[in-house]
Amino acid sequence: MWTLGIESTAHTLSFGLVDSEGIPFPSSSATIRPEKGGIHPREAADHHKDCAAKLLFDLLDSNSLSVSDISAVAYSQGPGLGPCLRIGAAIARGLSAKLDAPLIGVNHCVAHIEIGRQQCGCDDPVLLYVSGGNTQVIARLEGKYRVLGETLDIGIGNMLDKFARAQGIPFPGGPVIEKLAATWLKENPDCDMEGLELPYAVRGMDLAFSGVLTAALRLVENGKPLGAVCWSLQEHVFSACVEVAERALAHTGKTELLLGGGVACNNRLRTMCDLMCTERESFSYAPPRMYCIDNGTMIAMLGWLELGSGRITEFTSSAIDQYLRTDQTPIIWA
Ligand code: AMP
Ligand code: MG
Repeated sequence: MWTLGIESTAHTLSFGLVDSEGIPFPSSSATIRPEKGGIHPREAADHHKDCAAKLLFDLLDSNSLSVSDISAVAYSQGPGLGPCLRIGAAIARGLSAKLDAPLIGVNHCVAHIEIGRQQCGCDDPVLLYVSGGNTQVIARLEGKYRVLGETLDIGIGNMLDKFARAQGIPFPGGPVIEKLAATWLKENPDCDMEGLELPYAVRGMDLAFSGVLTAALRLVENGKPLGAVCWSLQEHVFSACVEVAERALAHTGKTELLLGGGVACNNRLRTMCDLMCTERESFSYAPPRMYCIDNGTMIAMLGWLELGSGRITEFTSSAIDQYLRTDQTPIIWA
């Protein structure tokens, strides 16, 4: 009895598994890395289609399973890029029909929360969800995960990737920015923000990143060292996220903070969350990095939880929803 999870919201196609007890097993994934420009939805969908069969069989082989061991099929129903979501949904419907296994379409953002809760053993956290396309501060209130604050323009990861791309650094740029910033700080331990100030992106409980991006690009154009700008960029945007997360903890009275999404791989962001939580006698959690980035295992995990609570997706309701919101999914399993 295995639940298969299929993730295909954007740049990554990924298959993952949970067993009959809901224990997660690492995913088999492939990410499109365009040589030039950003991620084109149609090209990403073609990438997913081309590598799907190999990824699925790699996953089954590495766990000594065959297709017939799959007893349920979960997939990301949204939010995400339409052409990419459609590939995952088509594979899921095909497998479900062939295996006569229940189909379950899940909310990608909620899957980030549930894999984090499972991995970190926290119960009722505020989630700081920082990924390529999404930046949200989320908390469970009255049976749904409510978005308390979010980006008003682009996602934080998207902003980091765009800044990196302008410096000739290919996707994903976030990890390279992290390295450049850390190296700069090591070589310039006494550096300060003078001449490196950027707009501070907090608007009440919301965030904004496009103005910071423009200002950071301008600093580089005006001759500031790239490492220094990477450092300043991280300090500004991560502080903004942590400030909103702290306010969410204060307003909700919750005492757990959980990180999720690809940008949650960043050590500096993890440290800032730890510091903030220690100061307010709360607890900060971050899942293993393989479960921060988009992965099929988190989709399998949420599918397993929802199926266990009696929800399945009929074929006639299995269409993708590019604009699915975090707070549209009732939490029937907690
Ligand atoms: P996701 O959309 O959740 O899969 O996350 C992908 C995003 O995470 C991309 O924008 C990456 O640049 C970003 N990312 C991955 N690792 C890091 C890191 N160490 N620091 C900052 N951003 C990162
Ligand atoms: Mg994601």
